[in-house]
Amino acid sequence: MGKMLKTSAEGRKCTFPRCTHILSIYNHEAYCHIHLDQVPQEQKPKSLTRPHA
Ligand SMILES: [Zn+2]
Repeated sequence: MGKMLKTSAEGRKCTFPRCTHILSIYNHEAYCHIHLDQVPQEQKPKSLTRPHA
């Protein structure tokens, strides 16, 4: 049995509308590298150290 690497499922597609890019199993994002830069990063809180959570 091989070790279970932390990879995502195979054959996932970028969730960007009309994008048919297949995401790498090492890409745990919902978008391909192209669209990852284009989508708003609102869902990704940058500041982990907040005054009060
Ligand atoms: Zn894409």
